[in-house]
Amino acid sequence: MADTTGAVLVFNAGSSSLKYQLVQPDDGTVLAEGIAERIGDAGSSITHEQNGESVTETLVLDDHLAAVQRAEQFFADNGTDLASAGLTAVGHRVVHGGRSFHEPTLVTPHVISEIKRISTLAPLHNPANLVGILAAQDLLPDVPSVAVFDTAFFHGLPDAAATYAIDREVAVEHAIRRYGFHGTSHEYVSGRVAEFLGRDPADLNQIVLHLGNGASASAIAGGHPIDTSMGMTPLEGLVMGTRSGDIDPGLVLHLNRIADLSVDEIDTLLNKRAGLKGLCGENDFRTITELMDSGDAAARRAFDVYIHRLRRYLGAYTFALGRLDAITFTAGVGENSARVRSEALAGLEGFGIRVDPGRNEVRDKAARRISADDSAVEVLVVPTNEELAIARQSAAVVASLSAR
Ligand code: ADP
Repeated sequence: MADTTGAVLVFNAGSSSLKYQLVQPDDGTVLAEGIAERIGDAGSSITHEQNGESVTETLVLDDHLAAVQRAEQFFADNGTDLASAGLTAVGHRVVHGGRSFHEPTLVTPHVISEIKRISTLAPLHNPANLVGILAAQDLLPDVPSVAVFDTAFFHGLPDAAATYAIDREVAVEHAIRRYGFHGTSHEYVSGRVAEFLGRDPADLNQIVLHLGNGASASAIAGGHPIDTSMGMTPLEGLVMGTRSGDIDPGLVLHLNRIADLSVDEIDTLLNKRAGLKGLCGENDFRTITELMDSGDAAARRAFDVYIHRLRRYLGAYTFALGRLDAITFTAGVGENSARVRSEALAGLEGFGIRVDPGRNEVRDKAARRISADDSAVEVLVVPTNEELAIARQSAAVVASLSAR
């Protein structure tokens, strides 16, 4: 059995899912990983991978604690007693840090109550993250828990990029600003870009496109984000799998007043029944591309709307940066869809952006360049690894505590 000493157990708890990974923060070795899905539902399941084997089990998981307990059992069956495995930390992804948190933070009772308070800003996400934290603390009371916030990287956004043009008093009273999300991924990937190019991050102006089921773009100058597409919530910005991204806020008022939809109904409409799914009934790009190729007009429109929005952000961020050195695609769609990448950057040779079609088609799990040799702007595909980033940040928090 692989040595678990010093490893970090990373939890990413969603409203009905729990992803976990046991990872060595130094070299990124993944010792085990798993995912519990449809928690609280009749058909819950859990998949655990360890020692080269993958086991999937369908069972009733009433809540996140049950999922954590089942995961612990899987570890034990594979010869890993988590409580005595020498873990450095349990690292938790927490979606919203509000105004309180902009660094990875050791979880204390005060931190728990603060995350609870911030839940009003992220009612779909923070409560689930908290349940994950409490379940892990219940299971491993002697291992420090660290919260890593999805908003943290964007804490220092320039005021002009972070501010909504609404009544200032209302904004201040209700903590309304643009927070940005997927920060762990944008920070990790932009750092990897600098490494890959052998450049000092301080000298690099880049755009990172995190295109997964959720999607966001960021403009990063000298290692610091100067703009990002998600806002007070992860609903703003790019067209996503099931979220609308940017809309006219007047649309919400209209749906409420004229279509008689309640706020909760509009919430569901924009978060779960919009984006690609709302436009063509599908949110997986593999299916959408197949449908498009078979002549499906709704799938074609969904694709076109997605690309149009992406290009709008690319243009805006290029101007915001003033000089652009690199564009990087990451996450499920960004890493896998050559078609999205080529259409997003088609016809931009006049701006020094030239994708090499052959390089773009290569499938590889490693970071790679897909721009042509004569492209002034580097175009890259860099796999994100939020778990590793969370593990490293968590280990660093614990190390700084013991150094005191
Ligand atoms: P999230 O973490 O936001 O749930 P991911 O980053 O895992 O999402 O991305 C999931 C999405 O990636 C899928 O919905 C699908 O659209 C896309 N995807 C995954 N594999 C491929 C592929 N081979 N080709 C095209 N798209 C893909």
